[in-house]
Amino acid sequence: MFPSKALILGLGKSGRCAAQLLCSKGVEVLAVDENPRLEVGGLLAQGAKICLGPLPDGFWEGAQVAILSPGWPPHSPSCQQATQHGLPLWGEIELAFRCLPKGTGPLLGITGTNGKSTTTALLGHLLSQARSPVFVGGNLGRPLTEACAQVFAAHAVELSSYQLETLHEAAFLGACWLNLTEDHLARYGTMEAYEKAKLHIFERPPPGAYAVLNADEPRLWGHAAALKEKGRALWGFSLEKEKPEGVEGWARRAEGGAELYTPQGKWFFPLNNRSLRGRHNTANAMAALCMAHAYGIPPPALAQGLSTFEGLPHRLEWIRTLDGVEWINDSKATNVDSTLVALQAVDAPLWLIAGGRGKGASYQPLINASRKKVLGVLTVGEDAPLLAEAFAGEVDTLDCGTLREAVLRARHLATPGQVVLLSPACASQDQFENFEERGNLFRQYVEAL
Ligand code: ADP
Repeated sequence: MFPSKALILGLGKSGRCAAQLLCSKGVEVLAVDENPRLEVGGLLAQGAKICLGPLPDGFWEGAQVAILSPGWPPHSPSCQQATQHGLPLWGEIELAFRCLPKGTGPLLGITGTNGKSTTTALLGHLLSQARSPVFVGGNLGRPLTEACAQVFAAHAVELSSYQLETLHEAAFLGACWLNLTEDHLARYGTMEAYEKAKLHIFERPPPGAYAVLNADEPRLWGHAAALKEKGRALWGFSLEKEKPEGVEGWARRAEGGAELYTPQGKWFFPLNNRSLRGRHNTANAMAALCMAHAYGIPPPALAQGLSTFEGLPHRLEWIRTLDGVEWINDSKATNVDSTLVALQAVDAPLWLIAGGRGKGASYQPLINASRKKVLGVLTVGEDAPLLAEAFAGEVDTLDCGTLREAVLRARHLATPGQVVLLSPACASQDQFENFEERGNLFRQYVEAL
């Protein structure tokens, strides 16, 4: 059933696209957002009825469905109100799925706690070596509803667990689960509940469906047999493990790259692209290789795509090499775990720029990862004193106050063969709007050197 009247919860990028799509289909749109200062003139002109503020009783009168924005918690009072009145909750993905044009290509979905954006962007890039046009979006960048106006050869879709919870009919030909670590526990309560949300990606397998799973995580691989039984060809990837019996395909880390085992044979892909440095990116690359090859992208196109992938901004992003010193922007590292991943990925003596608004986690884990590698820590922002305290007696720290000052100091300290890495382990809001602004300014300062 396609609704004739819909309630949209949240008018961010995704909600707006949903509203536009529905208006264009002649659906009566009611929309609500908590921000009273939101600019909604365009939507009003299209005929949407909009409420900025708490959801008033009865506002949704007559609506047959509630469309949830990715950031809008399904357990919020407004969602509960809507469900109590019997409205099914659809996410952006479900709405898009029902509106995709006839003849458009399949959905290839990627979920996990970490690495979703990188893997989705890489999958899109690999697909586009042999197919055109390819849609890349979902939780990352463009909402999937934007794909409804055009026929695409294939869609690489990033999916958060929130988005997966609001699927009803949407189905993915290829479905990849990267990893699962403690996150969103405030929302889910237990790891089991979080895991259950992720499993929605595999439901309703269409003919020819396949699953790609991280075989290094027992919690994920434990579902392998059941997924196969329910109709998905099984692909696995591992940093260490040999290909087991009973899988359709397999990727494994090898010296200098990754090996891909397929029903047709075995291929080796070098992984020397600096946009894919680190073990975590080897895992992401193997996942994308499995997804793309299972869909039918031939090995030469995969090799071409791997070597030309430019990576995403702010995630171990290479900015420039100046007088033999490499400058890397990892502003997306807003917590200690992400900075640990970055320290493991960079294979040279480095100057670390860290600090900002801490999240209360201990900085102690950074010490071990820094030994023998980090030449000094240039601290910035609110948490500079806590970082200095944590590193005391282990690695020298220098409080620079601002990012700009840290860049200038690093320019004088670093010598050829060394790296300057911005990987703050902290949120940015004490000095910047968000991590993107912090990373963009870092890039500007470094380019101006
Ligand atoms: P997401 O979209 O899931 O947040 P990103 O691709 O944007 O993932 O990566 C965000 C951060 O997560 C990276 O900067 C890195 O610190 C970490 N990360 C990326 N891939 C992995 C992985 N496969 N395993 C563990 N950590 C990862």
